[in-house]
Amino acid sequence: MAKGEKLPRKKNKIQDEKIQNEIEEIKRKLLSLKFCPRPDCGEEISYIETRQVGDQIYFYAVHNHGYTKDNGKTRPLLKRCYLGAYKYDYVERFNNLGLSGYVNPTRFEEYLKSLIDTHELDIKEALRIVDMLVRKLSTKIKNEDNKIMIITELEDLIDMVKGK
Ligand SMILES: [Zn+2]
Repeated sequence: MAKGEKLPRKKNKIQDEKIQNEIEEIKRKLLSLKFCPRPDCGEEISYIETRQVGDQIYFYAVHNHGYTKDNGKTRPLLKRCYLGAYKYDYVERFNNLGLSGYVNPTRFEEYLKSLIDTHELDIKEALRIVDMLVRKLSTKIKNEDNKIMIITELEDLIDMVKGK
């Protein structure tokens, strides 16, 4: 290789600045949870790690469990928990996690609450989730009672917003 020639860029490495920013944003949001959202874990998050496989970016919560001596070398004892993949939006990502059994509804609720409390989730995003939930619930209406219950709850919510 001639002097000054640049090394070939690693194939598939994401160059798109917008995507990189979005990934950083997701990492920041995940880190702001402070504790692992996986119900089988819940440990404090040391940092968020990403791995790229093809076009997918996978997110992991890393938990530092201290250090160990390995052939005289000190290395950290790390536990990694898979949190989800990029390309999904919030709802889809957590649905996906839910399907994998990683996030139970209570954790999901806690997660949403923390996002709202820390202003990480804006009104538009929150409304999109409400919209999705109502649509999903509507498909589960089995009888008139279910229907009335949902409508009553929604009317109460609307009244509450109007009263503000
Ligand atoms: Zn964990």
